[in-house]
Amino acid sequence: MITVSDALRIIAENAPPNPEEQVSLHGCRGRVLARDILSDTDWPPFDTSAMDGYAVRLSDTPRPGAVLAERERTIAAGDAPPGPILPGEAVRVMTGAPLPPGTEAVIPVERARREEGRVRFEIAPAPGAHLRRRGESVRSGSRLVSAGRRLTPGDIALTALAGVDPVTVFARPRVAIAVTGDELVSPGEKPRPGQIRDSNGPMLLALCAARGWPASPRARVGDDASGVAALFAADGRDEDVLVTSGGVSAGDFDLLPEIARREGFEILFHGVSLRPGKPVAFARRGRTLWFGLPGNPVSSSVCFHLFVRFALDCLEGDPSPGAPRVEAQLTRDLEGAGTRETYRDGILSHAGAIVRVEPLASAGSHDIAAHARANALIRVPADSDPPAAGATVECLLFQ
Ligand code: AMP
Ligand code: MG
Repeated sequence: MITVSDALRIIAENAPPNPEEQVSLHGCRGRVLARDILSDTDWPPFDTSAMDGYAVRLSDTPRPGAVLAERERTIAAGDAPPGPILPGEAVRVMTGAPLPPGTEAVIPVERARREEGRVRFEIAPAPGAHLRRRGESVRSGSRLVSAGRRLTPGDIALTALAGVDPVTVFARPRVAIAVTGDELVSPGEKPRPGQIRDSNGPMLLALCAARGWPASPRARVGDDASGVAALFAADGRDEDVLVTSGGVSAGDFDLLPEIARREGFEILFHGVSLRPGKPVAFARRGRTLWFGLPGNPVSSSVCFHLFVRFALDCLEGDPSPGAPRVEAQLTRDLEGAGTRETYRDGILSHAGAIVRVEPLASAGSHDIAAHARANALIRVPADSDPPAAGATVECLLFQ
């Protein structure tokens, strides 16, 4: 059996970035940028007023009470750049207006009184007061957003400022989700004795949707060879990644890995030294990847956060793929991992500068009720001493 870190390496080797595509600026939040965004302009693009006020020269307003002639025309935001300020002149300028060349300060209208074509100022301004100089925030040609960044609303403001629309991003990986198992019925159905409702299908679809990955459900598959073969025989043209739940462990009806192989998938791993999630399988046929997640709901979720998310990030060209990892202080003692790397449900919280994680009691890999309360997984390395309360542990965030 391979280790978790070997599994991640194998996934990375088999999940090259998708092709680039052009997306409208309005639709690219959360997408991974494929090309640097360079500004084609200074920002601000011209000297401009930060207030509704008067543009003045310092030598004309050396002390409170100065009276200057007011230029007839007020300069508004959107006006063409005005002529230079003359000695003894004050020019009324609105916020965002281009300033007359020679302006050394702006005096807010609240500190000025108009007197028949002249203005009296209550204050002597400090040099540079209330004006914004061209290029003080951004220089033309500078890099505003780097390739590889998952675009935030702030990045999108910068991209707009730089005049880039549409934006070049990596195509999103398309996911198909299929659940397997004779015992499963849909959430809307009443299970007969011996049956259970499918909770993994909706969960896996929601995990993809939460990160903006388009995912579509496939028809449920029973534990029979022909149904499973049909699932893998589909050409895969509509998806980059097929994610299944169930049928990958050692039971009599765990048919998926063998049938995937028969249908042309190369099994890249089957079984990882991990708890929960040991039976997880990963395979590839051409550009299509298959993740066979175990059916136990907590195992399915852990394997999604650890492996599927990592693969989808890689396909999307994200240079730091995978769930974010942070260090946190354990609030109570934990059992050791034994020989397999172990992931435990936890609730991570911030107390001032300290990040703490509270391990949740769990009845096992079927205990989705405990797992659903968690916001992080606590990683306990294989063959390590049991971590005690106060110890620093590594956590994987569900975000
Ligand atoms: P399997 O991996 O197929 O051996 O399934 C392991 C356990 O997970 C069994 O108890 C199944 O009933 C349960 N299980 C399988 N698929 C699902 C599902 N889609 N939703 C909830 N539980 C499931
Ligand atoms: Mg099963």
